[in-house]
Amino acid sequence: MIWLARSCLLYAVLAAATLFSSATRAAEAGDIRRYVDAHRAQIVGDLVRLASVPDLHGDIVQLNRNADLLVQMLAQRGMQTERWRTSSGAPVVFGQRSVAGAKRTILFYIHYDGQPVDARQWSQPDPFTPVVRTDSIEAGGRPVTDLANAQYPDTWRIYARAIADDKAPIVALLSALDAIHSSPRSTIKIILDGEEEGGGPGLSEAISQHQDQLRSDLLVILDGPQHPSGRQTLYFGARGGAGVSATVFTAKQSLHSGNYGNWVPDANMRLAQLLSSMVDATGKVIIPGFYDDVKPFSKQASAMIREVPDDPARMRETFGIGSLDGAASSLQEALNLPSLSIHTLSGGEPGSVIAGHATADIQMRLVKENDPQVMIDRIIGHLRAQGYFIIDKDPDLPMLLAHERIAKVTAKTPPGGKSGAWRTDPDHAEAKFAIDSVRSAWGKDVVLIRTLGGGVPASPFIEAYNVPTIGIPTANYDDNQHSANENIRLGNLFDGIVTLGVLMTR
Ligand SMILES: [Zn+2]
Repeated sequence: MIWLARSCLLYAVLAAATLFSSATRAAEAGDIRRYVDAHRAQIVGDLVRLASVPDLHGDIVQLNRNADLLVQMLAQRGMQTERWRTSSGAPVVFGQRSVAGAKRTILFYIHYDGQPVDARQWSQPDPFTPVVRTDSIEAGGRPVTDLANAQYPDTWRIYARAIADDKAPIVALLSALDAIHSSPRSTIKIILDGEEEGGGPGLSEAISQHQDQLRSDLLVILDGPQHPSGRQTLYFGARGGAGVSATVFTAKQSLHSGNYGNWVPDANMRLAQLLSSMVDATGKVIIPGFYDDVKPFSKQASAMIREVPDDPARMRETFGIGSLDGAASSLQEALNLPSLSIHTLSGGEPGSVIAGHATADIQMRLVKENDPQVMIDRIIGHLRAQGYFIIDKDPDLPMLLAHERIAKVTAKTPPGGKSGAWRTDPDHAEAKFAIDSVRSAWGKDVVLIRTLGGGVPASPFIEAYNVPTIGIPTANYDDNQHSANENIRLGNLFDGIVTLGVLMTR
């Protein structure tokens, strides 16, 4: 009995503690949530206004119009703003809200340029005239034309180019500042890049010319879709890239397959054999040393990789995948390793001929442990081991005659010889601060991703001043970023405001 009573008491104390902690949690995040709920129309209005300005990569006139609007939006929140010119003409916008005696400075990186559009693929006439829908197109969402009394529920979506990638995070961050009455506890800096989608000199120029202004204790990248589970997500690293273009030659020209079949080697076939020598039957790369730079994962890294709540069965169904590659035991493990893909293959021509040459664009995604030049050398070494004589320009006739197997290889080394891969230790004090902040708003169910599969431009900052970096992706995973019918789910926009508001006031 006594045991029972004590255990009940203990249970009661625990329950009270849980209630209390969730109550304090709710008070912090709850205030922001209440602001969001009372201002849904205004927040959506800001986003629609920003997404209505076209932002195609390289369209300098329109990118400057975006920058004008962004400077104005930052200034409205009491931020000191600057507009930095770049040699390409796409401005970098900078904003700062200083807090006297602040413990830390947080720099947020967001980009405002967008991917190209093919309007014919879209379900609306103009990708830069945003369309509000009652749900996703796939779920039968209808366009909403009368917005006068709209309540903007979480399930609604807005369709427009760049609305999720990456304009919603800009509006989420600015709305979070509104929600906390422009009173963050940390000094807040924002850098808005106009050249992320196609690359360009602007960001590197801004970093080298404004190092001191950009200095921070923590860099937060606001880009990318959150985990498909819909839980708030943080990532601590991203892969980079490098690659080679390889062209195999078998003759100086294509030749009639009837006249020469069985006699002239087919360059397409030779290339296929060469590529298939790079992987085993399960798709695991067998180029010597390919995975050697990645040491066995630590206990902590393994746990982090394991705990991501992926649903492989659902993902396979979504994408129609009949079998998986054998390089890793899970998607998250795969993303923490280098990978190799053939992005394009070309060779041959119509007219019943045997191809005299064929080309593969071989691309690698690299992790922090990989040196891109070493990885490129491994590929080239493998080609040589298959009997190929490697050249760096098109072969002339004597060269073709002198070598049984010959391939032209051009390396695509990233700028500065760096792959762009990075990773922050989740035990770093600033990373812990970010994890604790997001958990204080959302509880334990936050998804922590060790390495994002794709690239994000954090490494120029990390190289410049070794800043601990994390990413907070807030867009819905089915946002169609980079393709037709890009969209943001309003619930994701609003939740992002809560997360960012809490981060800035902790
Ligand atoms: Zn992006």
